[in-house]
Amino acid sequence: MRQKIRRIPIYISLLLFPITLNFFSPYVSIDGAMNGIISGSLLLFFLMFITSIFFGRAWCGWICPIAGLSEMCSYINNKNVNVKRLKIIRYSMFTIWAGVLVAMIIISDGIKGIDPLYLTETGISVDAPVKYITYYLVLLLFFVTTILVGKRGACQSLCWMSPFMVAGVTVGKLLHIPQLRIKADVSKCVNCNACNKKCPMSIPVGTDMKEGFIKTSDCILCGECVDTCPKKALTYGIK
Ligand code: SF4
Ligand code: SF4
Ligand code: SF4
Repeated sequence: MRQKIRRIPIYISLLLFPITLNFFSPYVSIDGAMNGIISGSLLLFFLMFITSIFFGRAWCGWICPIAGLSEMCSYINNKNVNVKRLKIIRYSMFTIWAGVLVAMIIISDGIKGIDPLYLTETGISVDAPVKYITYYLVLLLFFVTTILVGKRGACQSLCWMSPFMVAGVTVGKLLHIPQLRIKADVSKCVNCNACNKKCPMSIPVGTDMKEGFIKTSDCILCGECVDTCPKKALTYGIK
């Protein structure tokens, strides 16, 4: 039941993607930086960082439009992926993007203003037929990558937003701020492996939970493992 409820916002979010696309755009933030403007997308990335200090990567499990697309793809390819290898690709691309962003802000003589509707004056991202080209290309990129790579393949390899959330989770941990996490009662576990198979982020849940909670910042708090565990060894909790 919980998983059915969880899928409602991510599918609605996917349907609204033509409206919201620019607010996730790495290009819009760079274009804004070239003019010394903090755009809506950069504001959203900052909001992701802040919220993840308290709620981890719940955004990825419960809200993101690409989460909706990824879950649809999982009906076609639901193989676990090599997270470490894909992370190298993701962080390499993120470093280049972040470097260009900072360079643009410096070249444009610093930040001159904030415009949440930068390049989205109507408030709707796809507000002209030609913009559907960008929209479908983005969808195609995420769809094909996920189908070819496996579970959340595009999230694991391409996403420029997740590093903001990983940073937020890490800051929360370092500052000992209470965080929403998946807690584990290790004594109940019978090593059945069901959680490992079910996890959309290919986390080895049975191993990662040995300290009494899921440690990795890859966890998107979807609760698939919680709902799958036959021994009720996993629960949501505050760490
Ligand atoms: S990893 Fe990126 S694309 Fe995937 S659900 Fe999270 S924010 Fe969305
Ligand atoms: S560990 Fe559990 S809550 Fe975290 S991503 Fe995997 S299935 Fe979802
Ligand atoms: S599903 Fe539950 S019992 Fe099975 S390995 Fe995972 S935590 Fe242990």
